[in-house]
Amino acid sequence: MMVKRKIIKERIPTPERPVEERLKGFMEVNLGYTFELAVQEAQRCLQCPYEYAPCIKGCPVHIDIPGFIAKLVEYKDEPDRAVKEALRVIWACNTLPATTGRVCPQEDQCEMNCVMGKVGDKVNIGKLERFVADYAREKGIDDELLGEMLPEIEKKEQRVAVIGAGPAGLTCAAELAKDGYHVTVFEALHKPGGVLVYGIPEFRLPNEVVEKELEKLKRLGVEIKVDHIVGKTVTIEELLNRYDAVFIGSGAGTPRLINAPGVNLNGIYTANEFLTRINLMNAYRFPEYDTPIKVGEKVIVIGAGNTAMDAARTARRLGAEVTIAYRRGEEDVTAREEEVEHAKEEGVKFEFFLNPIEFIGDESGRVKAVKFMKMRALEEKDAKGKRKIEPTGETVILEADTVVIAIGKTANRLIVNTPGLEVEGGVIKVDENLMTSIPGVFAGGDAIRGEATVILAMGDGRKAAKAIHEYLQKKAKESA
Ligand SMILES: Cc1cc2nc3c(=O)[nH]c(=O)nc-3n(C[C@H](O)[C@H](O)[C@H](O)COP(=O)(O)OP(=O)(O)OC[C@H]3O[C@@H](n4cnc5c(N)ncnc54)[C@H](O)[C@@H]3O)c2cc1C
Ligand code: SF4
Repeated sequence: MMVKRKIIKERIPTPERPVEERLKGFMEVNLGYTFELAVQEAQRCLQCPYEYAPCIKGCPVHIDIPGFIAKLVEYKDEPDRAVKEALRVIWACNTLPATTGRVCPQEDQCEMNCVMGKVGDKVNIGKLERFVADYAREKGIDDELLGEMLPEIEKKEQRVAVIGAGPAGLTCAAELAKDGYHVTVFEALHKPGGVLVYGIPEFRLPNEVVEKELEKLKRLGVEIKVDHIVGKTVTIEELLNRYDAVFIGSGAGTPRLINAPGVNLNGIYTANEFLTRINLMNAYRFPEYDTPIKVGEKVIVIGAGNTAMDAARTARRLGAEVTIAYRRGEEDVTAREEEVEHAKEEGVKFEFFLNPIEFIGDESGRVKAVKFMKMRALEEKDAKGKRKIEPTGETVILEADTVVIAIGKTANRLIVNTPGLEVEGGVIKVDENLMTSIPGVFAGGDAIRGEATVILAMGDGRKAAKAIHEYLQKKAKESA
């Protein structure tokens, strides 16, 4: 018999830190649900059947979303049990839910086709996922669940090397460790996490949350060797001699530059350098930390993706007046909706249809202004479905003592230049099993896609782990 349920149209809001408080530091902006609020939001889910639920189809790793939400409602009188059961469902597909719940562009993924959207607000899936992970971490429920899983792992002899400790590499490593393989991750930087720790700022994703989530992976038996640059400290060829398979998850960390006069003036940063200094090296707490950062009073950020939004909001927190200049229109902004809203609330200004053509310096060699060509949109669309743009011939000069360039990134050159590794359009070429042109070497994440999303990188990590498992089983049979 169909149970008649009350439809709750409006989303239960998550508390947020007020703007004045946010601008004083790097504390997390969104404060997340309490158990009571999470249950209220969970009760809005219509519980579409598993085979049909559009949210599951929209999530790149197909988490059983109605399934985990149902546990919060079913055990609403036993919060710890509700969270443990919900986490069990999430972990079946996603090992970093505190991270994805915070940074996934849910509006384009799981929440995109949520049926509730037809009668009211879509269910707040990301914040519910984050709640489950945060509550479990705070109460040690995640450790308890992990403790139950560990004895079930049957150890295998074969060894796998993973290059890069970002979401792709770490997910691949975790899945292989769950299958019993010896996994060693080689990371170039002194901390694991990839963009999660050096790119995405604390006010969106606290490093502590990532660190705690990564501890779980270490408990699974994954060994992480930091300060190891593959291509320099060790080559892929050497890894292939010592390991039975290799996974490349080295991301797309090489910034794209603007080929315009004056681009080397002082005060011009790539977003990568700017955000690394702040997030990884804690330069905003200089001189308590050694790395300095110099930000003036007027900052221009060029670009309108997540990276640009993060750089702009970071500069606001360092006290600057900030303008985002984008060569296309507002409808083409690629950053997450929530981040654009937060940036606007925090006083970041937006200028559209401006393309930089010259950086103008003062007598000491520091940038003082940027000259832009005004652009206009055409009706015709490009391959990515965006309206094409063309110069109008009219220019405009905006003053700035600091410029941050955030126009995208390409794959790491050291890896891409590996002999025998086929590359297409700046990214590593793989087959349908994510195997590269070198047998036994697999790849995923931004290294094969260019800059994409955390959950797509994690999805690749999972898929590659499965393919590596099959490859190694076949290899073991052949040598038996
Ligand atoms: C500022 C910023 C904000 C973003 N915001 C979002 C967001 O809100 N939501 C979202 O879904 N996505 C976001 N993204 C994109 C997302 O972070 C990436 O798609 C994701 O991190 C890709 O994961 P990955 O594991 O492929 O690579 P990465 O996270 O880049 O990790 C690669 C790792 O490999 C290491 N490495 C590189 N070369 C070598 C080498 N030769 N030897 C050893 N190690 C090496 C790197 O140091 C790094 O740790 C953002 C990206 C940036 C830059
Ligand atoms: S992993 Fe991302 S896309 Fe999938 S359910 Fe969670 S928030 Fe949504």
